Amino acid sequence: MQKKGNTTVLPEEVYFEDLGNGITCIDTMLQRRGLASCYLIEQEEMAGFIDTGTNNSIPILLEVLKRKKIPRENVAYIMPTHVHLDHAGGTGGLMQELPNAELIVHPRGARHMIDPSKLEQGSLAVYGETAYAKRFGGLIPVDPGRVIEAADEFEMDFNGRKLLFLDTQGHAKHHYCVFDEQTQGLFTGDTFGASYPELNWGRAPLIFPPTTPIHFDPAAWYESLKRLMSLDPKRVYLTHFGMHENVPDLYTQLRLTIKDYAETAQEFKSSDNSERRIADSILQSAINHLLDQQCGVDVETIKSLIGGDMKLNAQGLQYWLENS
Ligand SMILES: [Zn+2]
Repeated sequence: MQKKGNTTVLPEEVYFEDLGNGITCIDTMLQRRGLASCYLIEQEEMAGFIDTGTNNSIPILLEVLKRKKIPRENVAYIMPTHVHLDHAGGTGGLMQELPNAELIVHPRGARHMIDPSKLEQGSLAVYGETAYAKRFGGLIPVDPGRVIEAADEFEMDFNGRKLLFLDTQGHAKHHYCVFDEQTQGLFTGDTFGASYPELNWGRAPLIFPPTTPIHFDPAAWYESLKRLMSLDPKRVYLTHFGMHENVPDLYTQLRLTIKDYAETAQEFKSSDNSERRIADSILQSAINHLLDQQCGVDVETIKSLIGGDMKLNAQGLQYWLENS
């Protein structure tokens, strides 16, 4: 949490959108507006968060509870889809503020929430010290007595509302997605890709797989997507970013982009500067797609919105090339 002396500093902007059926999308304000979200789910007196944002996002989440007049005691569960810090970095700090909350986490992620030192090292390696501190603001361990591991097909009765947790490999080995029976909606973390509303004005949306180091696995990813689609979801709640209802279109596009990424990585495998070449190539493909689909956003703005993602994706693809 950002603290100055004893005073908690609330980020100036708190953006959240009520999506109906007790679901609220909250902008966790990672770097800019519209990059990363998390979700508050309410069922009568019970509340929970799916993903948390980073440690810097905690004041935003608490402010949303306050504005929605939800007592902190009513938050029963924190459900990070996986333990990457833009999804789970706020978990430990948030649990300190929410006395009754239990953590529901993928079995492979549990130990990293209890002892976040490895996670911290991993993120430092990817982002470097300065960017890590600014972006994620540190990590707080979770008390093991408050941790529940959600194995594949773990079902939760969320105050009469059924939530189903599915192990979804491809982006990370510690990733689950959550199917909400009431809305026939899927909380997909990074498994159903990233698609930014600012870029979705064209005929077909831009959606891409975050291939962040170090677990990218295209074959496993296709299987996960197939399994998610077998539930016939009516909507997906993406962390990056917001609710989308054109699910079959997104699915088709995302599968193609995963295939394209894997092929691009292979193509540059033996080149000098392969990581930079991969980054340039996947960025150019995204720009071409957006221009073809007449998204109406200029190239410089596109670059500023997804350039950072493409660099990170190239890092993950490079790692995959070297280790698969
Ligand atoms: Zn991730």
